[in-house]
Amino acid sequence: MLQFYGRGSAFSDVHNSAFFRSGRSLILLDCPASAFRILKHAPFLSDCSEIRVFVTHTHADHVGGIPLLIHYAFYILHMPVIVTAPSQEVAEDLRLYLDRIEGCDPAGYRIETAADAILPFSARAVPVPHTPRLAGRCFGWHLNADGQEILYTGDTASLDPFLPYLHEGVTLYTEACCHGSAVHMQIDRILPVLRKLTQNGVRVFLMHIDDEAKIADAISGTDIALAPLYDTKGERNMTDISAQETLASIFSITHDLYKRMCSDQESSHETLFTDLTALGKVLTGADRASFWKWDKRRHELWTLSAIGTERIVIPETTGLVGKALREQKVVVTNDPYSDPDFNPEVDKKTGYVTRSVLVMPVADVNGEFIGAYQMINKPGGFDADADCRSLSPAALICGLALESETFLEDSQHDRLTQLKNRMGFYADYLHRYGKMLAAGRNVSMFLCDIDHFKRVNDTYGHNAGDDALAFTSDILQKSCRPGDNAYRWGGEEFIMLLPDTTLEEAAELAEAIRVRVMNATCLADGNEIRMTLSFGCCAMDGRLSVEGNVSRADQLLYTAKEGGRNQVKWEPLPAWQNH
Ligand code: GH3
Ligand code: MG
Ligand code: MG
Repeated sequence: MLQFYGRGSAFSDVHNSAFFRSGRSLILLDCPASAFRILKHAPFLSDCSEIRVFVTHTHADHVGGIPLLIHYAFYILHMPVIVTAPSQEVAEDLRLYLDRIEGCDPAGYRIETAADAILPFSARAVPVPHTPRLAGRCFGWHLNADGQEILYTGDTASLDPFLPYLHEGVTLYTEACCHGSAVHMQIDRILPVLRKLTQNGVRVFLMHIDDEAKIADAISGTDIALAPLYDTKGERNMTDISAQETLASIFSITHDLYKRMCSDQESSHETLFTDLTALGKVLTGADRASFWKWDKRRHELWTLSAIGTERIVIPETTGLVGKALREQKVVVTNDPYSDPDFNPEVDKKTGYVTRSVLVMPVADVNGEFIGAYQMINKPGGFDADADCRSLSPAALICGLALESETFLEDSQHDRLTQLKNRMGFYADYLHRYGKMLAAGRNVSMFLCDIDHFKRVNDTYGHNAGDDALAFTSDILQKSCRPGDNAYRWGGEEFIMLLPDTTLEEAAELAEAIRVRVMNATCLADGNEIRMTLSFGCCAMDGRLSVEGNVSRADQLLYTAKEGGRNQVKWEPLPAWQNH
């Protein structure tokens, strides 16, 4: 069933428009400015993941709120708006209109037409007669909302276009007016038809009304009703609805998540945390939510996912999240500005007002705290006991997910050098570099090895050798450009993968690193030592296996060692392998 933000015609205070929800989509039928004013306060808005607007036509009392909505959804809700036009011509009008409005960032919305791909809710545009200027550009909608077949006339001078679809069980929302107009439907004229429809099992609601009292009078004693207005106060029946809505939202999030994890689409811990953060937000009824990882190696706190706020990294001792992890307990404040651990900088920058905060630390299976949920602004404030109970299902899954993410991260990193290890190399190749090669992009690589490294160990001891490895790795890591990656291949051998890099460019980079290492002095367990590296450098060939590519770099590295060390050897692909 539709709910109406307003059911008034063009000169009323609250213009006609309706909405329904499906999963995490909010679907609007037209969006006048008066509808936007109401919808931006809807408590369920922050649980939605997208907003769709089905447009009937481009009169201002039908589309005037769309730019405001796009602006608000982009900057505040971080949610896409999809504007569905009933035809190509209307899509072009809307494009012209929205493109010229400051604040309608193109990244924030998309215009599609009813003919585009497959529309959700089996939506179909029905052409209707209206003003001469809008000839061919005015439509109603025939759609399926929540399993209910609906006809929404929009503005029309005639019911005729809808008659073929009006059978038993259908719900009709039709415009009706009192004052004579050639482009609208006068109630006296259509009342007999509407009464017949209700007798045939069609549910009829009137909208886009110019004089509510008179229309109400005209339909008294019939089965025809005024379109149902959305209860903006909401509170009265909110508890019943919200329990059901909350459950529906929880199941919709967890089901999406389950489906994604079972599909062969790329999914990651990151997407998992995003969904679990959304779940935490629904469970507590907070306005904003984030999930934080405690990176104990770097002594930092990271937002792994954030809804409504930016993702940031902060020192582990700071903020309310830092406090909760330091004190190993739940932190609740309903007066954050007077809490010395609360950092008001984000609010100062964005104008957001934080009224209440709940931080719930999460632990791994051994009881070690590894991260935390942070919820912000719950109407009426947070209650530590009640809200932690509500949040516990999500906190439990997040703890396990974070533990598994940490295991995965650890298994792909080398402790001594902090570089990724061989497992990290294979994972990156599988997910990124292999795909780049398959897409025809250049990826080059080099393998390098510290010269006479055994002597460092033999002369200064194993600890000095460890320091020297960490020192060299640091130079390699700092030499990475965006997209590059350095790996500890094993012992004192390293690999670097260089996307969108030709062989010559890779050799140049290797040469620069060679010189940097050669000229650097390393403090190794109190001893000042110098080192050199030898390099084998090649362009990766997507037709070879990853081992085949490494083996080519290895042969070149061998040649560099044979040639006297401290040098870069590189060679184009053999002729038979050239593309
Ligand atoms: P070349 O120039 O031919 O590469 O000579 P090299 O001495 O560097 O090569 P070799 O393979 O003979 O010796 C490598 C040494 O690296 C032997 C091994 O003990 C040492 N090594 C490997 N991993 C580590 C480590 O994690 N820490 C320390 N301290 N030494 C390591
Ligand atoms: Mg060596
Ligand atoms: Mg070696």
